[in-house]
Amino acid sequence: MARFATIRKLRWDNACVPNMTDYATERARFSWDEARRSLDGLPNGRGLNIAHEMVDRHAAGGHRSHVALRCLPRHGARTDLTYGELARRSSQFANALDRLGVTRSDRVFVLMPRTWWLYVSVIGALKHRCVVSPLFEAFGPEPIRERLALGGARVLVTTPDLYRHRVAPIRTLLPELRHVLLATTSTPASAPRRETATEIPGTLDMALLLEAAPDSYVIGHTDPEDLALLHFTSGTTGPPKGALHVHDAIVSHHATGRIALDLHPDDVYWCTADPGWVTGTSYGIVAPLAHGVTSVVHEGGFDAERWYGVLESEGVTVWYTSPTALRMLMAAGSEMARDHDLSRLRFVATVGEPLGPDVVVWSSDALGVPAHDTWWQTETGAIMVANYACMDIRPGSMGRPHPGVDATVLARDDQGHVLLDPDGTAVEAEAGLDGELAIRPSWPSMFRGYLGGDERYQACFSGGWYLTGDLARRDAEGYFWFVGRSDDVIESAGHLIGPFEVESVLMEHPGVAEAGVIGVPDPVAGEIVKAFVSVRPGYEAGDDLRLDLLGFARKRLGATMAPREIAFDQHLPHTSSGKVMRRLLRSRELGRPRGDMSTTEDGP
Ligand code: AMP
Repeated sequence: MARFATIRKLRWDNACVPNMTDYATERARFSWDEARRSLDGLPNGRGLNIAHEMVDRHAAGGHRSHVALRCLPRHGARTDLTYGELARRSSQFANALDRLGVTRSDRVFVLMPRTWWLYVSVIGALKHRCVVSPLFEAFGPEPIRERLALGGARVLVTTPDLYRHRVAPIRTLLPELRHVLLATTSTPASAPRRETATEIPGTLDMALLLEAAPDSYVIGHTDPEDLALLHFTSGTTGPPKGALHVHDAIVSHHATGRIALDLHPDDVYWCTADPGWVTGTSYGIVAPLAHGVTSVVHEGGFDAERWYGVLESEGVTVWYTSPTALRMLMAAGSEMARDHDLSRLRFVATVGEPLGPDVVVWSSDALGVPAHDTWWQTETGAIMVANYACMDIRPGSMGRPHPGVDATVLARDDQGHVLLDPDGTAVEAEAGLDGELAIRPSWPSMFRGYLGGDERYQACFSGGWYLTGDLARRDAEGYFWFVGRSDDVIESAGHLIGPFEVESVLMEHPGVAEAGVIGVPDPVAGEIVKAFVSVRPGYEAGDDLRLDLLGFARKRLGATMAPREIAFDQHLPHTSSGKVMRRLLRSRELGRPRGDMSTTEDGP
């Protein structure tokens, strides 16, 4: 399995010994109960609340004037927010929600670029014990509408620009949405642009609401099992799945921040993921704040020169990013890395897609530290398998299960189902053999259900294990190696994209009779979205229609989800039940044999 030489564990000086110095010892002694005890808990036994652990407990202690967020806006000067300031503003937001009549368990959605407003909204809503769902700012109107409707959004926090272009056109389709609050990003609360509230009917000015609200807030009793976060992920069929997480998830976020990301109190940490994806929330918001570190909040997308500049000028010590980002840096050339002083960078980790061994080696050479792959998903809420600072890296491997996490590879039958013993116990695959990556329930950040989808939830468990939908193999020393997805979900630049959601939008175009959407390999993004389309009579398959469709999909879905390639095919392959057979499209595209079609859900 290992084609690249092992990279020896990081060397540490006395100033920064990793939080975990020996994997086997930590695994043997770790318990989630003890991890829970290392948190504060709400005063007077009022339970466990994520916002308290992230902000209020630091603000109440000696960490009050420590910088929590270092915000680097697209335009304008950087803003630092201390833990004290973050506590104050998030309390104002919690009070503002209260004044609007928003109550516990109401759903608050946040559709924002990465600015401090986003953090204040998420933290304030968690204080008020609402269920928070951050959405990706690059989503087009259709994914936004679908998620707000599925989630029963009561409040939406967004910007005037995003509101005008993405939300206003669909607002009438969202009768449950009571309040839309607009934040003028990059503008400090002390200088609100008052025209936002009055200029756009049906919205409220977030800055004015904050100004008028008291700046202290007592968090009410929060049961650790109270719902806290809602993250959408994509399945093969049907609408996106809303995975529900509870306040107890903070136990996993905190423990994995300590062990897998090796966070220390003086770290300057940068997570490049948008909070609209689970990584950007669990590790862009929750884990670093729970550890009281300074988090870099960089608005704006990838730009090699700028990113190196951020690593250097902010003195980033721990960096959590994606393999796609590293591949793009690689493509920009190692010279660029050498032009920057990255000597403070101590630990680099990635998630979301396979981290090729060549990238691990490149990172070691060009950045001075190897990239540490981590594996997890929306449903697990936190890192499950990882490479750790104290452990040798086998380039290309996802690493070993996190302390407290029991992971395995389950054998599958010819139909792709997990093999069960007569007594219902799942059979584990032998070392070196492919199977389904599975985790033993339950760790604190395990999702507690899908929105309105109990059947879908139950289908994720078999033989005493949570089935991840990923295929993997394990070597004799217990390192896990990613093999692929067991379904049709597309993984592009670390984002999961549901083919069904893309097909549904394409089929709304009057020229499209039918569509089948698959992921095709791409050297930078891992996979890109490709659509196969048959056209309706009266339409001509050709460049004009292709351009029109690309634009149509981009406008409706946003740049991340829209197909990058479109091919016309009047004879799309079908199952006997009439569904487009994506697996056959993929085999044709890759020039692979057709395979046993009975083993897929698209099977005949
Ligand atoms: P999401 O739920 O959007 O975070 O996507 C989770 C999926 O991304 C996983 O089920 C995997 O298919 C993929 N993924 C996450 N981390 C890795 C990794 N380190 N290597 C390979 N695939 C990964």
